Amino acid sequence: MVATLSQEVVMSRMAGDRVFSVLILPLLVAACGTVHAPATPPDPLAAVADAIASGAVEVIDLTLTLNAKTPVIQLPPPFANSPGYEAHLISRFDEKGPAWYWNSFSMGEHVGTHFDAPCHWVSGKDGPCVDAIEPARFIGPVAVVDVTADVRTKADFVCTKETLLNWEKQNGRIPARAWVLLRTGWSARAADAATYLNVVDGRPRYPGFGKESAEFLTQERDVLGVGTEAIGTDASSGATADPPFPNHFVMHGASKFGLASLTNLDRVQTTGALLIATPLKIERGSGSPVRVIALQPRS
Ligand code: MN
Repeated sequence: MVATLSQEVVMSRMAGDRVFSVLILPLLVAACGTVHAPATPPDPLAAVADAIASGAVEVIDLTLTLNAKTPVIQLPPPFANSPGYEAHLISRFDEKGPAWYWNSFSMGEHVGTHFDAPCHWVSGKDGPCVDAIEPARFIGPVAVVDVTADVRTKADFVCTKETLLNWEKQNGRIPARAWVLLRTGWSARAADAATYLNVVDGRPRYPGFGKESAEFLTQERDVLGVGTEAIGTDASSGATADPPFPNHFVMHGASKFGLASLTNLDRVQTTGALLIATPLKIERGSGSPVRVIALQPRS
C-alpha cells in the first residue's frame, strides 16, 4: 500500500494534473453521491432474521399439540392400528430427579401433526424414509387452496384437478417445490376425536386430496408435497378407492411428501408464505411427528 501510494505520488509529479482526473476526481464524485461503487449484495438470511425479530415477518405454528387425546386414524379389521401418544414421567423435582423434569413418550409415527415419507407407501417403498430426505426439501413456498365452503356442504370433499386449476386462475401457477395445503377448517374439530374422524353410518367422512389432484400435482406440476387439516392426506373416500388411499399411492410413488393434521391454515395467506416441516431423523422412519411452521410477511 505504502509502495503504491509512493508510486502514485511520483506519478503525480510526473503527470501533473493527470493524478487529479485518475485518483482525486473519482473520490470527489463518489463523495458527492453521484456515482456509487458496486454495493455488496445484502445477505438474504440476515434480512430474514431482522424481519422475524422486528415482526415484519410472522411465524405461524401449523402444529397440533400432542397429548393422550390426539386423534389417530382408525383402520377396519383385519388391519393393525397405530398406538396414540402416551407420556411417561421419568422424574419431576422429586427423589428420582430432584432438580429436573423429564418424560419419555411412545407413539406411532403417524400421530398428530406428522410427516409422511415416500417409503410409507407400497408405491414408494424404494423411495426415501425420513432420515434420507435431502433437508432442502423440507422447505418450500406455500399454496393454500381454500375449500372451506365446499366442506361445509360436503364433509368428505375431495380436491380435484379442477379445484387446483380454478385456484391457479385466481393465483397463478403452483410454484415448483411448493407445499400445497388444503384449507378446510377441519382442525377446529381436532380436540375431539369423534368429531374429527366424523364416522357417519359406520364410515369416516373428512376432506382431503384424491387420485386426480395427486396425478396433476406430480405429473403436471412439481410440488414437494401436500398437507391437510384432517387425519390423513387422502380424503376419507380414499379408503374404498382403487388403489386404496390414491393420494398416498400417487404422491409417495413420485417421491413426494404428505403433512396431516395441520392447524391454523386460516392464518396462512394464499400465496407468499414459506413452510418449514422437519421430521425427526428416525432411521427408516416411514413418517414422524413434525413441528410445522410458516413464515409470511405480516399483513
Ligand atoms: Mn401418515
